[in-house]
Amino acid sequence: MLWNNFYQIFGQMVVLAGAALLVLLLVTLILGRILIKQDKLIFPRVLIFTLDLLYGPFKKFSVIMGLDEKIVDQIGVEVRNKVNQKKFENIEPREKLLILPHCLRSLDCKAKLESSGLICNDCKKCVIGVLKEKGEKLGYKVFIIPGSTFLQKIAEKNKFKAVLGVACYQDLNLAMMKMASFSPQGVVLSRDGCIKTKVDIKAVLDKMGYPSPINTPEESLTPLSSCSKDHHRGPYKEF
Ligand code: SF4
Repeated sequence: MLWNNFYQIFGQMVVLAGAALLVLLLVTLILGRILIKQDKLIFPRVLIFTLDLLYGPFKKFSVIMGLDEKIVDQIGVEVRNKVNQKKFENIEPREKLLILPHCLRSLDCKAKLESSGLICNDCKKCVIGVLKEKGEKLGYKVFIIPGSTFLQKIAEKNKFKAVLGVACYQDLNLAMMKMASFSPQGVVLSRDGCIKTKVDIKAVLDKMGYPSPINTPEESLTPLSSCSKDHHRGPYKEF
């Protein structure tokens, strides 16, 4: 009898927890959708709190509901970008890091991998060389990394107040979660994968604080790789 009651109460608690999780996920999805579609930020801190706390369950529930689990990361990135934007912009570039993923590099890249990441020799065969030069000109410390373990080491060894990163939705959301105290900003890869990924260079330069594209000469934004022969694409396009 006692055990029967226990199992009954336990079962009810599990159902209640599942229902609460479902409601939270739906609220998060609705608020995230409003942010993405209408650019309106509602209860951002609550949104970030629930996204961080229930990240794993939210992803599983999204799949169960037939949604792309990427939606959770997309909402996470968009909310964090909005919440941190002003603070990030008010910090001097010399106190910021720019973190780029090594998958953006050219297949002909000769850069060596060291403990701080890839040591780009500025051959400009890929967008990394272009962004590195632009970033360093403003004062950013630029790192090209193959994975999040490098991010941890870089964070421990450098003094900085803010960070701008480029990655796929999941990596970016998780990295922004870890770097929450550094007003993180992120730009999502427009084509992700292990190699030959792409990013919208305009979006990265905008976040970096570069002025209007009109003031930036096209040749200074175009990598020299064979992949970028189509110079007609103009400045600030994706590579
Ligand atoms: S510019 Fe690109 S291809 Fe050239 S060394 Fe740097 S990362 Fe490698």
